[in-house]
Amino acid sequence: MIKQNVSQILGDLPDGVQLVAAAKTREPEEVLEAVESGVKIVGENYVQEAERAHEVVGNRARWHFIGYLQKNKVKKAVRIFDMIETVDSVEIAGEIDRRCAQINKVMPVLIEVNSGCEEQKSGVLPEAVEQLAREISAFQNIRVEGLMTMGPRFGNPEDSRPYFVETKRLFDRIRKLNLHNIEMKYLSMGMTNSYKVAIEEGANIVRIGSKIFGKRNYGKSQASD
Ligand SMILES: *Cc1c(COP(=O)(O)O)cnc(C)c1O
Repeated sequence: MIKQNVSQILGDLPDGVQLVAAAKTREPEEVLEAVESGVKIVGENYVQEAERAHEVVGNRARWHFIGYLQKNKVKKAVRIFDMIETVDSVEIAGEIDRRCAQINKVMPVLIEVNSGCEEQKSGVLPEAVEQLAREISAFQNIRVEGLMTMGPRFGNPEDSRPYFVETKRLFDRIRKLNLHNIEMKYLSMGMTNSYKVAIEEGANIVRIGSKIFGKRNYGKSQASD
């Protein structure tokens, strides 16, 4: 199933749109199967789960962190990941910068936008994104390469469209500022039920889980670290 799902999705994606296989709750063997089927980027929400999968898959894929990053996990995260998509504060950016400096790495990051302006959601509010981008641009070992958003969860993907439009607008605006040390290349939006709408609105990274691996069963796996 995984193989068929991956080839169908890869066949459907327009040129220039990258697929991130969202691997939360999946076993390392399932992640490996996805990679052997053509997935080039694995997205992980939990550092501990990523370590397990990384031991099996290693550098046959690139690794994106797409979950909520706790400060005490940054040291491990910067070793495993090639991109952190969920930076939403200058504090976490500063910790990533500090830990990357220790291992001579420059970490590409995306700023996560709380495009639905929902309380208790991760991500920075749209009106605060520019300020955060300017603050992060001062760091030496971290480079902003774009924006990521989840948007509110809806059954109907059309309901997500305004949030994708808003995030794209922000993306274009920040790109035009030509800020030092910031290269706005990636716009990560859209999941299994919304990725087609997201691509129509300018996403060039989509993060897809269920459509690759099947329905998630949070019960059988540890869903936290
Ligand atoms: C789980 C997850 C996805 C994928 O969700 P699906 O609906 O399974 O495609 C994408 N992005 C993030 C940040 C996630 O946590």
